[in-house]
Amino acid sequence: MDLFKVYQLFDIEPVKGEGSFIFDKDGRRYLDLYGGHAVISIGHCHPHYVAMISAQLEKLGFYSNSVQNSLQKELAHKLGELSGLPEFSLFLCNSGAEANENALKIASFKTGKSKMIAFRKAFHGRTSGAVAVTDNPSIVAPINARDNIVFLELNNIQLVEDELEKGDVAAVVIEGIQGIGGIRLPEVGFMQQLRELCTRYNTILILDEVQSGYGRSGKFFAFQHCGITPDIVTTAKGMGNGFPIGGVLISPHFEAKTGMLGTTFGGNHLACAAGIAVLDVIKSQKLISNAEETGNYLLSELTKFGQIKEVRGKGLMIGIEFEQEVAEIRKKLLFEKNVFTGVSGKNIIRLLPPLNLKKDNAALFLEKLKETLDELL
Ligand code: PLP
Repeated sequence: MDLFKVYQLFDIEPVKGEGSFIFDKDGRRYLDLYGGHAVISIGHCHPHYVAMISAQLEKLGFYSNSVQNSLQKELAHKLGELSGLPEFSLFLCNSGAEANENALKIASFKTGKSKMIAFRKAFHGRTSGAVAVTDNPSIVAPINARDNIVFLELNNIQLVEDELEKGDVAAVVIEGIQGIGGIRLPEVGFMQQLRELCTRYNTILILDEVQSGYGRSGKFFAFQHCGITPDIVTTAKGMGNGFPIGGVLISPHFEAKTGMLGTTFGGNHLACAAGIAVLDVIKSQKLISNAEETGNYLLSELTKFGQIKEVRGKGLMIGIEFEQEVAEIRKKLLFEKNVFTGVSGKNIIRLLPPLNLKKDNAALFLEKLKETLDELL
């Protein structure tokens, strides 16, 4: 059987990871400024993470959600503490799209409404509900799935109010920082007014922190830069450092009912062990403040490059926009300078490194980027 070829592949095969570095099958070392698409939070193959998953696998890898699972409770407790949302409750699933799907359902159940507001250039996943609130023409939504979705410009509160006034909107879904859309930040004032309006019009505010969460922005969740509390927060990617796990964090004003949501694999023992290990390491190694400090260093150094049009972001979620298309820059960085980076659209290089990125490795990246830009532009 061959693979169903849906991905554009670089001709590199990573076979080993260590901290902020990965190694290909010929032993070549790469600095990882991409984190496997914002997934690697505590660094590759962190010893505590490896030990927790291995130990759990030797005891019990999986049993169903029809029995007690104290690992889920431990994960929820630690997540509540570290995120500053101890009063929220947690529904565990397997991915970001699934987390958003469940959030949309909860909002619809609670309000009895079905219309959703999402924002231009947002990305929320590829299941039918999540893809429906994704404003990207290249990602096809199932027929009719977008009938109930209104896409608005980010940071235009009047447009939001005009829609909410109609009284038929179940939820507003918004990324803490837009990732795929080009590292675009919601303004603080916009977020605060959005919070107020959602409360006034009985609309659920869903914060998609799948990419911007788990410490990446220099706070546990990016919305915490705006001083608001959403009704529902979704998370995945960095939550398991590569082990598939997603979560829906649900505010206390929602009441759980048996059978309301469900999943076979969500919250399994191995995923919980991975999730707990991630939280332990984020806390003990102070990775959130590291993300803030190393991120600030990168942001301020990058603004000194004459060839760059604009630098945007917070913490270790950074967009570097160029006038030119960035495909050649990325390729040179990867194949000649051995640095992995991400991309948004055609003109933006996206940095999503592991949160343990140290200042000397950030400096190494800046050096490689400078060489690349001097050679190409
Ligand atoms: N939400 C955001 C903001 C994302 O960036 C992504 C994936 O890139 C998703 C949701 C979907 O997550 P997953 O691919 O785990 O389903």
